[in-house]
Amino acid sequence: MTAILGGQRRRIAERAAYQCEYCHLPERCAGALHEVHYIIPARHGGGNVPENLCYACLSCILHKGTDIASIDPLRPDDMIVVPLFHPRQQAWAQHFRLVDGRIEGLTPVGRVTVRQLDLNDLQRVEIRRRLHRLKRQP
Ligand SMILES: [Zn+2]
Repeated sequence: MTAILGGQRRRIAERAAYQCEYCHLPERCAGALHEVHYIIPARHGGGNVPENLCYACLSCILHKGTDIASIDPLRPDDMIVVPLFHPRQQAWAQHFRLVDGRIEGLTPVGRVTVRQLDLNDLQRVEIRRRLHRLKRQP
């Protein structure tokens, strides 16, 4: 993996408005700084180019790992492989919605991403609820 230099990291963080591009956790609410993450890892052919980089919280990065796809939890018997959400190529609101702090997958892409990245762990749901109450998050 090629190192992400300070200026590049800052540009990617600014592009993401300093929030995780998967779970929308603001960096200021996380216990650690978010990181630049390869959406498609090098082992799957992804490159060190802006179109393949996103800003993500450590929880999303750890749960995603090198995964790029999974099986739709609504249709497990069909064994259809569905790609995970791609923050550079897809619009978050087309695949997810926020309901009382929980992120719901609206599409197969949304559903596999919610499950694989464990987007509704108790800590992040509670943070989203508190942010909503404080009117800091639309
Ligand atoms: Zn996240």
